[in-house]
Amino acid sequence: MSRRLLIAANWKMNPPPQGALQSGSPYFSSGDPEVVVFPTFIDLQNCIRSGQLIVGAQCGRPEQNGAFTGDVSIKLLKEFGCSYVLCGHSERRENHGETDEYVAEQVAAALEVGLHPIVCIGETWDDRKKKKEKSKVKYQLSVLPLESDVTIAYEPVWAISGGDPDKPAATAEDAQQMHSFIRSLLPKDRQGPTRILYGGSMKPENARELLSQEDIDGGLIGGASLDPKKFGEIVKIAEELGLKQQL
Ligand code: PEP
Repeated sequence: MSRRLLIAANWKMNPPPQGALQSGSPYFSSGDPEVVVFPTFIDLQNCIRSGQLIVGAQCGRPEQNGAFTGDVSIKLLKEFGCSYVLCGHSERRENHGETDEYVAEQVAAALEVGLHPIVCIGETWDDRKKKKEKSKVKYQLSVLPLESDVTIAYEPVWAISGGDPDKPAATAEDAQQMHSFIRSLLPKDRQGPTRILYGGSMKPENARELLSQEDIDGGLIGGASLDPKKFGEIVKIAEELGLKQQL
């Protein structure tokens, strides 16, 4: 058995990169790795209509309807044609007050309607300084329905968006250590099949080293996903590495 690498482009609050919707663009999934794009709500329709992109939403509301001005329900996202939804990205946690428990509600709602959740977890720099990175991700995982088919994205918050020049960059060894720890916390029968992506300034220069690690099954990519050339290079590296064997 093996895990298919997944390369996800989180375009955040940016329009689709030039040419992304044209056939042959690096954002189309053509075998392995699986490539998924996460546009703004406004661009979802065009991306889905392209017929060739696998599309996810950057967030969604667990309730099916109600007085939630400005929100979109996870159920509607599924009906609209999304295949994936990001749950608990650190920017949602920080800017919108999303708690671990609320993120777990999103994951449950996604599973209920058949939308595949990618759940983002990861420690802040302050957690790491206090040597609390493991207890932080352990708690974040403890509230999730891990017996189900979910994808985890480990994103050390301090390494996102180029990191902070005052802090050391996350190394492939740092990432592998945390990925292996995260895998050890999954139910035994989910340790093999569950994909654990890495997110935090992945770019062509570090992608091979990161994606070669035993427990890193792909990348959630922000900045570099906005540049088709850089993103294409990362997809090519993942293609060369092929499938990840389940141990
Ligand atoms: C992200 O926002 O999920 C992310 C990993 O961004 P970046 O690649 O820019 O660090």
